Amino acid sequence: MGRIVILLILAFLIWLVFKSFFRAQVRRETPIAARSAKGEDMVSCARCGVNLPRSEAESKEGRFFCRDNPRCIAGP
Ligand SMILES: [Zn+2]
Repeated sequence: MGRIVILLILAFLIWLVFKSFFRAQVRRETPIAARSAKGEDMVSCARCGVNLPRSEAESKEGRFFCRDNPRCIAGP
């Protein structure tokens, strides 16, 4: 029984080390400027001017609009 507890603690410690290692790696490789949390290009809404990731923007006639905001897509 004692050996199982020791194994569990060892596995937990190894998991913690791996977790912090990968987190440090990601932080080092991702440039902060001009990137969203997903690492996408940012575009600005042609109507309200809000900056948002390209995948969340609605593209219309070469311009981008907020997909979440019906007033931006609908037009005047
Ligand atoms: Zn908008």
